[in-house]
Amino acid sequence: MIGITVLGATGSIGRSTLDVLGRHRDRYRVVALTANSQVDKLYEQCLEHRPHYAVMADADAAQRLAERLHAAAPEIAVLAGMEGLEQVAALPEAEYVMAAIVGAAGLKPTLAAARAGKRVLLANKEALVMSGRLFMEAVQQNNAVLLPIDSEHNAIFQCMPTDFARGFERVGVRRILLTASGGPFRTTPLDQLISVTPEQAVAHPNWSMGRKISVDSATMMNKGLEVIEACWLFNTTPAQIQVVLHPQSVIHSMVEYVDGSVLAQLGNPDMRTPIAHALAWPERMDSGVSSLDIFSVARLDFTVPDLNRFPCLRLAVEAMLAGGTSSAILNAANEVAVEAFLQRRIAYTAIPRVIESVLTESVAHSAETLEQILADDAAARAAAERQVILHGVTH
Ligand code: NDP
Repeated sequence: MIGITVLGATGSIGRSTLDVLGRHRDRYRVVALTANSQVDKLYEQCLEHRPHYAVMADADAAQRLAERLHAAAPEIAVLAGMEGLEQVAALPEAEYVMAAIVGAAGLKPTLAAARAGKRVLLANKEALVMSGRLFMEAVQQNNAVLLPIDSEHNAIFQCMPTDFARGFERVGVRRILLTASGGPFRTTPLDQLISVTPEQAVAHPNWSMGRKISVDSATMMNKGLEVIEACWLFNTTPAQIQVVLHPQSVIHSMVEYVDGSVLAQLGNPDMRTPIAHALAWPERMDSGVSSLDIFSVARLDFTVPDLNRFPCLRLAVEAMLAGGTSSAILNAANEVAVEAFLQRRIAYTAIPRVIESVLTESVAHSAETLEQILADDAAARAAAERQVILHGVTH
């Protein structure tokens, strides 16, 4: 039995993970489940999966969960706050950690899992975007195994040679073709984007996901974060990554070799495929995902993304090229801007403007220590809040 901690269990990825784990109870044992504030959801998951630990980042929520579990499942220990999250990410009895907290909140627990030498199933791309070098060093120094859950990176991992860490040239890889659906506004006239609502932005045409990543997909900041993520995971640079608009979301990404071969991974857009892949790797196991019906897909389209429509993609690539803590600043500004948009405080089109202003006014540092990253993250959040007010919707 392999023990697993699921960070962010109540979210979209967390629930898909528990669905896959529920199909293989003979193989995996859920050791810890975590959430932020959704007590009812975590309570139900605890009754079903009977972990040793349940953690709520919010202390009041942890108190309420503890009261309810006291009667129903007193053997489950309830922990609270960032300390609790870091603790269950490093438990000796959990060999695997699913990192599925959304945003910067996931950085410390995900890093704790890497430092404890776990198999880290990485969905929380923001953690890697913020701390790329630091995180990859933690993985290497502690013999952790890092497997990507993002469907594109999981696809690339499946198409790459096993020794890709030696560098593209040595292993004969020419470039990565990173696919993107283009989100719900791929063809919306540009002058209509200003009146896009949060409801429209979170309604992704192909994938069912949490609210933050859904907005990121609409702006294509998600693809920008994924370019950064791919650079760190596969030891490459943005110059060797071509973003490809592929609205059907059937090809999840491709790898081109120097001999002209292009390998692609295809499948239905369902996150249980990459989750099952990373859990079972190097073996394979059932994920509950139905067969891809290529006859009903029938055609596959590919176009180059328009950076005027998707300025966030440009901003992310520029931040990666600038290096140091620039990516952490970009990520922090994006988190604040997306939240402000979801709260209807700024227009959809103000999201890239807020981020660009923050990147222009912030000072990035080359020292990528955790303290420096967190300090620059905090400063960028404060700057972004000011920019939100400047770009705010007047009622
Ligand atoms: P959701 O918003 O659906 O879930 C987020 C999870 O994180 C919830 O369990 C939530 O708890 C928890 N959480 C939120 N804030 C905090 C906090 N401050 N401290 C501790 N826990 C917190 O997100 P998704 O599942 O969609 O995404 C999770 C990650 O996976 C993101 O980084 C995303 O980019 C990535 N990803 C997601 C994909 C998808 O298909 N959804 C695809 C590829 C990557 P609570 O429920 O209590 O709020």
